[in-house]
Parts: sequence; structure tokens; C-alpha cells
Amino acid sequence: MSIYLDNSATTRQHEEVTNLMCRLMREDYGNPSSLHHMGLAAERHVKQARRSLARAVGCRAEEIVFTSCGTESDNLAIRGIAEARRRAGRRLVTTAIEHPAVLETFAALENEGYETCIVGVDKEGFVDPDRLAEAVDEETTLISVMHVNNEVGSIQPLAAVAEKKKNALLHSDCVQSLGKLPIPTEVLDLASFSAHKIHGPKGMGALYKAGSLHIIPQQTGGGQEKGLRSGTENVPGIAGFGLAASMAAESMDERCTQIAAMRDYLRRGILDEIPDVRINTPDHDAVCCILNVSFLGTRGEVILHTLEQQGIYVSTGSACSSHAKTRGSHVLRAMGLSGEAIEGAIRFSLSAYNTKEDIEQTVDALKKAVHRFRHLGGFR
Ligand code: PLP
Repeated sequence: MSIYLDNSATTRQHEEVTNLMCRLMREDYGNPSSLHHMGLAAERHVKQARRSLARAVGCRAEEIVFTSCGTESDNLAIRGIAEARRRAGRRLVTTAIEHPAVLETFAALENEGYETCIVGVDKEGFVDPDRLAEAVDEETTLISVMHVNNEVGSIQPLAAVAEKKKNALLHSDCVQSLGKLPIPTEVLDLASFSAHKIHGPKGMGALYKAGSLHIIPQQTGGGQEKGLRSGTENVPGIAGFGLAASMAAESMDERCTQIAAMRDYLRRGILDEIPDVRINTPDHDAVCCILNVSFLGTRGEVILHTLEQQGIYVSTGSACSSHAKTRGSHVLRAMGLSGEAIEGAIRFSLSAYNTKEDIEQTVDALKKAVHRFRHLGGFR
């Protein structure tokens, strides 16, 4: 039996979601654009999913645009606004701890002639709204600040950021907060989501776009999703996302309390059993499921592979950063951690599927792995 503690990278798809998707693939496989009854049936599934996701997000169904992933949603929001408001200004502001889906899009826009500003964070991984406000001028058209950081779990002060946004629109990457926190749509103009982080299918995302806000589509074609995301709808994926979103919204508070209790049990176990560790997840305003810890004097990657041999799956940072050009987490670097702390960092990310026994076995395996590394040095 494996112990899966890498739920911020991706989650196990709920059985109910898989069953629904399989049924749609086998039986209700119509194209929502077709005029016959199979097309209408497919369209009904898309409508139902849009309503379910809107309910989970706290917006109107018409404000949801389905996309192929969280990355596409970030791209569509950022490029869509930057291009739509080019005449009003060319300045775009974000933070140093965003996912590459945001940071790389900003870098590409900088190369295309936009002026981008990346604001730093404090040592706990929070952006300071006042510091951010200094970067925002009258020509700034977009501010992009993630809701929950995917590596350390810090929850960003979006309401305070929104108060200082001047003429800019506020986009938030809410990929890690959906199903764990209420989405503050009342202060957001755009928000990005991904299905596979909430026990839904991979390759499915969505963008919340407030009211009649105009954005430039990044994909042209048959005009699906009100012209904002052309391409035949991934009906099984959309329906699976809708179901996963309803399940995530259902008893969210209870589930998060249970996950937070496991996360705290893990933190306690590590602190009690293993010397010389640094907890990188803040002890306030942090999401329920993430615990980032540096085992000083070790290499996170080696600890990860040692745990893997016992069927325990963790991460050294975000899954995407393992493909990055630079070594070490850009988030931990932005928080000012030492090279040693960055090198020894492990991210544990939990779900409601984790049990107390999972945590106990993990602490036990970690204790041995860290001890062995510190006494024998690097080994594999
Ligand atoms: N944004 C954040 C904060 C993420 O954690 C991720 C996934 O790791 C993404 C965006 C990208 O989502 P997707 O994998 O659906 O493209």
C-alpha cells in the first residue's frame, strides 16, 4: 500500500468522477454543438457542470469558461487582459512566488514589449499589499496574485490587495484554494482553477471572469465557450470537473478541519522526532493541506527517493519546478531561505484520503532516512 502525500501536484481521481466520465465516453459521447439529441444530451452535461463549478466558486454559471488546464486559465486571464487593455497601459504586476504558469507568461509578455513588475514576499511567504501597491501605477492594467501558494501553503491577502489596485484588474491563480477555502470572487475580476487538484480529471481547467469583462481569446475557431475558448468541449472532462467541484464544496469546512489535524499531527511528529528542521509553512494563514519542511544538512531529493522506496510519495517543491531551468525552489528563495534550507526542503501535501497511520509511518520513515543521510552523507 502506498502513502500518497503529493496532493498539491495532483490528486487521486474520485471513483464517482471516473465512473461518470467512463459513462460519457462510452454512451453519451455526442458533440454539444450537434443539433440531434446526442448533442443536446452532451450540452446538458456541460451546463450542469458549469452550474456545479459556479456554485463551488461562488459566481454565476455564465462567468465560467472551461479550459484545458490551470495553466491555460492563467494564460488566458493574463494575456486576455493585457491585450484587451493595451491602450490603457502596458504595465503588469505579479509576485515572486507565483506558479510558472503566471511567471513565464509575464516573462513572455515582457519580451513582447510589456512592462512587468515582480513584487517580493516576506520570510513567511506573504505578499505585503502596501509593497505591492507601490508597484501599481495608473497605467497598470493587471495584477496577478495567487490565492494559496503551492509550495508553502501561505494564503495571500487578496482583499487588501484589491483595495489598492487602482485602475488595474485583479486576477488570482486559485488552483490550490478551490475546495479548501471560499474563493473571494467579490474582490476578484478573474480567477483560475484546475480539476486535477480536487480529485477531478487531468487536462481540465476553468477561468472565472466577472460579469461582462472583455478579454481577448487566445484560441480562435468554432466559437465555443462564448468565443473565449474555441475547440470542441472535453465533455467527460468538464462533467468530471463539475462533479469533483460539487464534492469538494460539500462539507468543505469539516474535511479541511480533518486534513489540518493530519497536517498538524505530521508537523508535531517531525518536530518531536527529528532534530534540525525548519518549518517553511507559516503557522497562520496557511491552507489546511500543505506542510513544507527543510531537513537541514540533507538533500530533499535523496530523502524523497528514500521514502519512495517504501511507497511514500512526497515532493521537493512544486511538480513543475522539477523541470525548471534553475535548481532549487524560486518560492523558498523569494522567502530568503539559505541554500542549505532550500536543498533540504520537502513538501508534504495531504488529502482527506490520508490517515493517522499514514502520518505515523511517514514520520518513522523520515526519521530513519534523515538520520541515515546525516550519518552516512549522500546515498541512493
Ligand atoms: N497554478 C498553481 C498554483 C498550481 O499549483 C498548478 C499546478 O501545479 C497550476 C497553476 C497549473 O495547473 P495545471 O496542472 O492544471 O496546468
